[in-house]
Amino acid sequence: MQTADIRGRWLDFFADRGHTVVPSASLVSDDPTLLFTVAGMVPFVPYLTGLVPAPFPRATSVQKCIRTNDIEEVGKTPRHGTFFQMNGNFSFGDYFKEQAINYAWELLTSPENAGGYGFLEKDLWVTVYKDDDEAIRYWRALGLPEERIQRLGMDTNYWSTGQPGPAGPCSEIFFDRGPAYGADGGPATDDDRYVEIWNLVFMQYLRGEGTSKNDFEILGELPKKNIDTGMGLERVAFLKQGVENMYEIDQVRPVLDRAAALSGRRYGADHGDDVRMRIVADHVRSSLMLMSDGVMPSNEGRGYILRRLMRRSVRAMRLLGVEEATFPELFPASRDAMSSSYPEVKADYSRISQAAYAEEETFLRTLASGSSVLDLAVAKTKSQSKTELAGDTAFLLHDTYGFPIEITLEMAEEAGLSVNREAFDTLMSKQRAMAKADAKAKKTHLADLSVYSTFRALGETIFTGYNNLQTESSVLG
Ligand code: ATP
Ligand code: MG
Ligand code: MG
Ligand code: MG
Repeated sequence: MQTADIRGRWLDFFADRGHTVVPSASLVSDDPTLLFTVAGMVPFVPYLTGLVPAPFPRATSVQKCIRTNDIEEVGKTPRHGTFFQMNGNFSFGDYFKEQAINYAWELLTSPENAGGYGFLEKDLWVTVYKDDDEAIRYWRALGLPEERIQRLGMDTNYWSTGQPGPAGPCSEIFFDRGPAYGADGGPATDDDRYVEIWNLVFMQYLRGEGTSKNDFEILGELPKKNIDTGMGLERVAFLKQGVENMYEIDQVRPVLDRAAALSGRRYGADHGDDVRMRIVADHVRSSLMLMSDGVMPSNEGRGYILRRLMRRSVRAMRLLGVEEATFPELFPASRDAMSSSYPEVKADYSRISQAAYAEEETFLRTLASGSSVLDLAVAKTKSQSKTELAGDTAFLLHDTYGFPIEITLEMAEEAGLSVNREAFDTLMSKQRAMAKADAKAKKTHLADLSVYSTFRALGETIFTGYNNLQTESSVLG
């Protein structure tokens, strides 16, 4: 089942059940101080809170998302992309918990020839908030055995904004990949064997003040209860396509294969190389989609995130042994894999590719000039009969030449030297502390609060928390 097919089945299923199909919003919100769309509910926040009357009682979408806070997971877990698509169905004071659970179960378990995804019931597990007996009742009514329903706490199964406002329990659906991937015990114990595919949020209560994310007062039931769900399209795709992870699905794998071909290395032969190929495939796709939504590489804000993604990709290719330009091969592969769902990546490709290829050329020149600085430092170190490159050299290379530390480490190693990592790290944390103080002084606002921008616009409570708060530092590492 191709990814575009899984997407189409989703929209058909919910359209047939009275949901208005809403096109994906941009990855970028209008507010220049905010970063990216991180979930399907983002464009619907004003309706979910009731601040603006919803123009329809039910809606469905397949929303483009970017989560920079997952960047360190990319390529290492099977399920985290920096770009991904979140399929959502939403009820604004219309249907509630029982219906949402029934819809999810029906779509997942209906046979493929009846428009469903054809998952076997025995492979599905659910988690519920520990006190949500109502949700447990509905799952049981669908025939789910007791042992595949797990009760969990606030950390994973309760949603709130972190501020007074709507809140409520969640129920999540997981796919069991089987004993080859880990021990029995359910989603509570192993997130590699049991892959989270769908989160159902029941916005049911009005919460008041609290002392932490997990400790607050519930003021009562909301007069109009809402449903907000999110299913990971790439996760369902990799499970349905019988591949190992989301980087091997039809929309991503062609880029991975190009990376492998360019490097002359075989995917599946070496774990480190495999991770690098997956990082390349992910980052190239994310960069393409960001540029398609108008983000251009730069030194700040969203453009900087894009630049980091592109540089990480170049760096990963270099670690795979490729020193020449790769984007002219990788970007077209990603464009062709994405264009059936997003024709705009094809229509706009000359603009996107010009900027992408130029960015890679610039970074390759950076790498070249940094390399000559490094060569000199290596010669000097050796002439002093030392075996360790000084930390301030590594820092200079990072700070002035934009040289990622991994490249310094790799190139020093090729020359038979180690690097004084401790001194480098000390200089880095000093610099970070200074940047932080500076940002504070300028009141720079780096956290992604896009979900709640609407509240601000309306002069309502400012929501500052969301379980996917992102900061630039998560990308800078
Ligand atoms: P995980 O625990 O696996 O990191 P999550 O709990 O952070 O996922 P939610 O915020 O509940 O994810 O988002 C709803 C759905 O979106 C998830 O159930 C998952 O299917 C999908 N999803 C979330 N993050 C990613 C990602 N980085 N890449 C691909 N799909 C994702
Ligand atoms: Mg997550
Ligand atoms: Mg989770
Ligand atoms: Mg979740």
